Amino acid sequence: MRSRVDVPRRPRYDRLVLRRAAALAIAIAALAPATAAADPRSNRIYLLPVGPVPALELGAVEGALAAFYAVELKRLPAIALPRSAYYRPRKRYRADKLLDHVESLELPSDGRTILAITAAPISITKGKAYDWGIIGYVAIGGEICAYSTYYVKQGLRDPARIRERIGKIAVHEFTHNLGLVHCKERGCLMEDAQGTPLTFDRVYDLCAACRAKIAKVGFRVRPAPTIPWPRPAKDAGPSDAYLKRIRRLWE
Ligand SMILES: [Zn+2]
Ligand SMILES: [Zn+2]
Repeated sequence: MRSRVDVPRRPRYDRLVLRRAAALAIAIAALAPATAAADPRSNRIYLLPVGPVPALELGAVEGALAAFYAVELKRLPAIALPRSAYYRPRKRYRADKLLDHVESLELPSDGRTILAITAAPISITKGKAYDWGIIGYVAIGGEICAYSTYYVKQGLRDPARIRERIGKIAVHEFTHNLGLVHCKERGCLMEDAQGTPLTFDRVYDLCAACRAKIAKVGFRVRPAPTIPWPRPAKDAGPSDAYLKRIRRLWE
């Protein structure tokens, strides 16, 4: 069994990892140093497009965050994908180097979070695998987040479905930034994806327990948001048995 590790004074990172060959993802926890240059009392989120990001995707992120949180969203001018982060053998960008690059830039420091969003594939080292594709690279309780829509939209053609998944995962990743870890409540946006973005097809809202935790950290979550996606059918998304099976592949 994989387990989360608590180490004082260092934030936990949540990484939603996606293995390209199997087109499956896995959530893992690891440790990394904290980032600076943000104001935890601010309700401002800076969206930083890294490389070309379709307007539909930026809109999906903004719409979802604004639906759930009383936030002020500001788009920063897009930056180029950093060559220093490019990993040629897999044609992906290393998430840690990408964030190093973002942190080296002169960015506003009055926001709660800088959400670096890219449509390019990003990756990390996971165990023995040097380069694993991931979706999000988020400091839990931190101020910076890398979010790649590349694997999120794989297999989807309908713009409404793409918008839905991208929006749900944006809320999930930002809520990690607020300090929340995964939630056991089925259908909660903070459910552990357990290896696949398909899990987000069965989630809908933040559960009462997660809302209480968010209120406790002092961030304003809307009590009754106008949720910008339909309530999933009872059997939507992967079954628990399927998730267990793919999880075993990873352990
Ligand atoms: Zn997560
Ligand atoms: Zn929850």
